[in-house]
Amino acid sequence: MEKQLSSHTRTRLINRNGKKVREHRWLMEQQLGRELLPREHVHHINGNPLDNALDNLVVLDCKVHMNFHNGRYSEVKICEVCGDDYIAKPHKRKRQKCCSPECANRLRAYNMAKTRYGW
Ligand SMILES: [Zn+2]
Ligand SMILES: [Zn+2]
Repeated sequence: MEKQLSSHTRTRLINRNGKKVREHRWLMEQQLGRELLPREHVHHINGNPLDNALDNLVVLDCKVHMNFHNGRYSEVKICEVCGDDYIAKPHKRKRQKCCSPECANRLRAYNMAKTRYGW
């Protein structure tokens, strides 16, 4: 299986049927035998988003996940778009809201639509 480490996201991506997927979500789906719901976040227990050992991964409801990061794991951010754990670049830590350029684009598109249509 082709593996690559995205230089921006610091999240491990794997290629599945020509589609890039996040390795930790895919691993958890294999473990559960079903697809993860959008509100089900995969948390890295030891705080390292690159450690995708199965015993380092746990499925949390997104609200529970947020609480975890506000307390013990405040150094590790949660992407506002996809809910992934990521380590923000130190000089951008305050502004950065997304794990990857793809997620930043999605957030930007969403905010633009919000402004335009007054959601
Ligand atoms: Zn987490
Ligand atoms: Zn993201």
